[in-house]
Amino acid sequence: MTMLKQILNQAGVREFGVCPMPPEDALLDCRAKSRLPENARSVIVCLFPYYSPGLEGNISRYAMVEDYHKVAREILTPACESLRQAYAAEFSWFADNSPIPEVSAAVQAGLGVQGRNGLLITPDYGTYVFLGEIITDHLFDYSAPAQGSCLGCGRCEAACPGGALCGGAVDISRCVSDISQRKGELTPSETELVRAGGLLWGCDRCQLVCPHNREVKQTHIQAFQKNIVASVAYGQIRPLCKTRAFGFRGPRVLERNYHILYGVD
Ligand code: SF4
Ligand code: SF4
Repeated sequence: MTMLKQILNQAGVREFGVCPMPPEDALLDCRAKSRLPENARSVIVCLFPYYSPGLEGNISRYAMVEDYHKVAREILTPACESLRQAYAAEFSWFADNSPIPEVSAAVQAGLGVQGRNGLLITPDYGTYVFLGEIITDHLFDYSAPAQGSCLGCGRCEAACPGGALCGGAVDISRCVSDISQRKGELTPSETELVRAGGLLWGCDRCQLVCPHNREVKQTHIQAFQKNIVASVAYGQIRPLCKTRAFGFRGPRVLERNYHILYGVD
């Protein structure tokens, strides 16, 4: 484990945990599945914290920073290369586009607990983390479960503008974050929910009210500390689509939301 820790720390991953492959919950069907190593035995789940203090604006916090897909690629590609050399085994990385159910695997890997808002709650960074996985045919020791729990306080459910949270389940059809990302014309009720959410992209309400997100640590990842854009003006939407996580949906989605929220360009 020490060599694994050394290699990952050097690449820029400070927090990680290991769970069995396959993990407890069923694998997801996606094209990335074809990149899984044959006879994979371990999943190394990596945390990418992105929180910086004072971030207030008109998009979700995770979208204020550099696109995490790019940041994860820049960290995990060399990490896998070093791990291949060190262990003479197969290592493939995934982030977001992953066959691994990421939150439940992170819980199994001892990185935190799952909240009633459906998100991973970590001890140091609360819910403000991205996840990535390295999957390998090498057998590593598995991590112990994390201490602590979601407080069950219900603040996330009470704050949810879409009424999407109930008993620990998220009804995606009512989640403003999901609705704000849909293409095309929104229905009148979807439009109302985007207005109620008040952001051009995403929704952070169930994170902002969570007691676990008080006094969280700032990210140590430099790429998430610079080039932060908290409030997006209409004219910034197209250029920002090249560097932010919302770029994959294209500029028209944010331009539509801008008109819903502000009415003018
Ligand atoms: S992201 Fe917003 S709409 Fe979605 S579950 Fe959380 S609070 Fe509700
Ligand atoms: S707001 Fe309360 S119930 Fe919701 S995830 Fe946080 S601790 Fe759990």
